[in-house]
Order: sequence, then C-alpha cells, then structure tokens
Amino acid sequence: MTDHLAKAVARRRTFAIISHPDAGKTTLTEKLLLFGGAIQLAGEVKAKKDRMQTRSDWMKIERDRGISVVTSVMTFEYGDHVFNLLDTPGHEDFADDTYRTLTAVDAAIMVIDAAKGIEPRTLKLFEVCRLRDIPIVTFVNKLDRESRDPFEILDEVEEKLALDTAPMTWPIGRGRTFAGTYHLADNAVRRMDSEEEVTKVNGPEADSAAGLLPENDREAFIEETSLAMEACRPFDLEAFREGHLTPVYFGSALRNYGVRDLINALGKYAPQPRAQKAGARMVKATDPKMTAFVFKIQANMDPNHRDRIAFVRVCSGRLQRGMKARLSRTGKMLGLSAPQFFFAHQRQLADDAYAGDVVGIPNHGTLRIGDTLTEGEDIVFEGVPNFAPEILRRVRLEDAMKAKKLKEALQQMAEEGVVQLFSPEDGSPAIVGVIGALQLDVLKERLRAEYGLPVTFEAARFNVCRWISADSDADVEKFVNAKRGDIARDLDGDAVFLASDGFSLNYEAERWPAIRFAHVKEYH
Ligand code: GDP
Repeated sequence: MTDHLAKAVARRRTFAIISHPDAGKTTLTEKLLLFGGAIQLAGEVKAKKDRMQTRSDWMKIERDRGISVVTSVMTFEYGDHVFNLLDTPGHEDFADDTYRTLTAVDAAIMVIDAAKGIEPRTLKLFEVCRLRDIPIVTFVNKLDRESRDPFEILDEVEEKLALDTAPMTWPIGRGRTFAGTYHLADNAVRRMDSEEEVTKVNGPEADSAAGLLPENDREAFIEETSLAMEACRPFDLEAFREGHLTPVYFGSALRNYGVRDLINALGKYAPQPRAQKAGARMVKATDPKMTAFVFKIQANMDPNHRDRIAFVRVCSGRLQRGMKARLSRTGKMLGLSAPQFFFAHQRQLADDAYAGDVVGIPNHGTLRIGDTLTEGEDIVFEGVPNFAPEILRRVRLEDAMKAKKLKEALQQMAEEGVVQLFSPEDGSPAIVGVIGALQLDVLKERLRAEYGLPVTFEAARFNVCRWISADSDADVEKFVNAKRGDIARDLDGDAVFLASDGFSLNYEAERWPAIRFAHVKEYH
C-alpha cells in the first residue's frame, strides 16, 4: 500500500494557468485537454461564445456576460502522469476565488501574449503564486502573430517579476514567418509543419540545421540563438522548484504549437504534490492517512440536480468512496458516499483519489471554504486566504417579512465564498463585502433565482474593512468596546473593524498601536 501510495503521488501534477484576459488561457486549456484525450474537438477551437453556452451554463449571469464565473477542475492523463488543471475565473472581480484556487496547486503555467508582455493581471496573479513559492512554467503565446523580440520579453519577466528566466526553446521566425522552435539544450529543431518530429542538429550554424531554418534570416537566427545560449541562464531544477526561475517556452496555442513541450515540462520538472502545513505539522503527500481541504464551493453546477459541490484538494493518503471523514471545524464525521472527478465536461464517481487530486463532494451546506477533512486526526490546514472586501453594502429586502430567510441565504452564500458577510455588533442589519462589483450581481441573481428573494443594495457608511487582533485579548476587547458601532463579526465570529475610508483607518491605527489591522485573513 505505501509503495502504491508513493507511486500514485509521484504521478500527479496539479496546476493552474495564470494570465491576463485574452492572452490565450482558454485556447491553451483546450489544447492541453486534447493532448490528454479529455475532449474530442476536431480542428480549430470553437468560438468562445458557443462554448460558453454548451458548457456548464448553470448560471444565467455567466452566459449573459460571456465570462467564466465558475472555477472548475479538469483531470486528464498524459504519458505517465495524471494532471489536475484547476481553472480560474478570468475576470478580476472574482479575484478572491482565483487566489483560493491557487492555494490548491503545486505549479502554474504563466501565459504571456508575445506582443504584449507582462500585463497587470499576470503580475497580480504571479504575486499570489510567489507568496507560496509556486513554481512557474512560462509559455510565450501567439508567436504566429506580430511579436516582440524574445530577449525583450525575457528581460521584462526578469525585471517586472524579479524572476530568473531560462529559455528552453527559441522561436524560428515570428508572425507570418513563425516556423517552429529551436530546443536550446538539446540542439534540436521542431518545425511547425511536423509537430511531432524533433530533428537533432549539431548547433544552429551546423549544416544539418540548414534546411530546417529560415533561409533569409539564417545569419540573424544563428546570432540570436548563440546569444541566447551564452547569455541566458541554463535551466536549474532546484531554482525552478523554489520559485526563483522559470523555464520559458515559445509557441502558439491556437496553432497547437509548443503545447506538447509545456505538458512534458510539467511532467518532468513540476513537483509532485507538496507537503501542506497544518499548525506545527507538515502533512506529507505520502502520509498514509487521508487529509484534504476545501478551497471552493460551487452551487447548482447542473441545473438538473440542484446540488452544491465542495471542491477539496486531497493532501495525503487515499480518499475512497464510501469512507467516513472527520470535519475538523465541527468534529463530526461525514460520509463521502459520492466523491466526484471532473473530466472537461463530465463528472464521474471517484473511487480513489490521492494527494494532488481534486474531488467534488456533494453536500447540502455542511462544508465551508477552508474546512479540513481527515481520517480522524484533529488537524487544520492553513492557507486558504480571505481578502478584505473592497466594496461593502447593506442588503435591502423588498419584502421585509422575509428577513429570516435572507439571513439564512446570506449565511449560505458566505459559506460558499460568493460574498463575505459581516454582522455588526450593534445589531444593525448585516453587511456584505465583495472584491468586485460583479460578485454583487451574482449574489442578487442567486438570491432571486434560488431563494425567491428580490433585493437591492445600498451603500453602507463603511468602505474599508480590516480583521483586528492584538497580542493580548484584553487589548482587542478594549478596542471592541470603545468602537462597538464600527465593529462586526465575520462568518467565523472573528472581529473586523469597519471604517469609512483609509484615512480614518490610519487615524485609528495610530491611536491604537496595540491593535493589528489585517487585510488578509487565512481561514483556520
Ligand atoms: P483567454 O481570455 O486568456 O482565455 O484567451 P482565449 O484563449 O480566449 O484567446 C483570446 C483570443 O486570442 C482568441 O480570439 C483566440 O483565438 C486568440 N488566440 C489564442 N491563442 C492564440 C495564438 O496562439 N495565436 C493567435 N493568433 N491567436 C490566439
């Protein structure tokens, strides 16, 4: 069993794709899945709009806006590996969802548009990866279009992200003349017209390379690649694993070029499921007892089954269908009768899952984001963060008789991570907090469609929210008592301070030096 477990763990690669909208994440995802045989789509990628409609159109709002609100997981096998690709919403209004998802991966592919370089969302998502030292493989996409000079792109990654780069391939031509890639370490050429075939040569200047390189610009290409080989860093596995260096591949997702290199790189270099911190203990992926944490809750994925799915990342042991797991927050046992795997557009019962795997657990509100499941051990995983909302609103109900129902509905929405919920200490109506305005639209639509509760939002007198703590509980208590009208409790009962603006927050922070005002809270 232990040997079996070690083998199962060693095969797994769990990753996400980070990019700025339009860089090509969707296209790349589709190509990766094609490699894994997870979907059969002949020829070109279908138009995004079409796809949105045929896909999990569990929510009208998602269709209307043509954006992906849901975070989902896709599992596929390729070569010797099992890949779990965790998809993240492209729109920045759902950023907190994305951050939570990134806590469940061991590696990421960063897609950069070759004409645009590092864009703002890429930078932001990269920073989140850096917090956890997640190793990053870079894919410079759209080489079949007008592109920037590769050296310039590498420099930009190094400067803007403070991340070392190691080009693994080098583009042969660009835009209309893009013909393939030169593999720097192996001295091999792969041409676009023969995606599978790699031809070994004795260097870019060798006779054996002559027929494979562009005739017109051959001199320039030799110069470029020689410079790349001399001046750029060679790939260093340890530096990559520590998140200090990224291997860089060039290609075109649309033309399905360079995608195989990426998937091979993930299999070869990306780490197997990492150990996860639970208090003072590091839980190793090969520890025999099952542990897992919830990083995402999704409701109504399939309109025909009004269900709620908790996405858990398995951290150790073997999650088996039918087993009982302990929910650390309540200490209660939970039967896992129907854990599910997701394969592109379908799901399937999961009989066994191992560290790195993501399974969906149907439930009726028992599980919350950040929950830990174990085979009996009393541990809690750290690290699914909560970010202070940027927008705070009171929810106004059209039918005041339904206040109790609203309270329950908001509690459920907050447990799913749709919004954050704060109950003021002075007993005034609850306040919801979101990172982006679209989340409010989602809340409104779901309250109407699922609970029959038409609502509107009104401005609260607060715009800033911070979790408060101090070395001594007495200090917190003193502050809470002095500021009762500006204090609220979050879902876990933790105290937050609400301020009208950053200015008054700073003012209070100066007056109360013993109090810490945090804009990130890790679930625990
Ligand atoms: P996302 O917003 O990052 O998911 O980007 P998409 O995958 O939807 O791609 C955005 C647009 O760029 C679409 O029109 C794609 O067809 C196009 N695109 C993606 N990859 C490539 C590529 O390699 N070359 C070219 N020319 N276009 C691409």
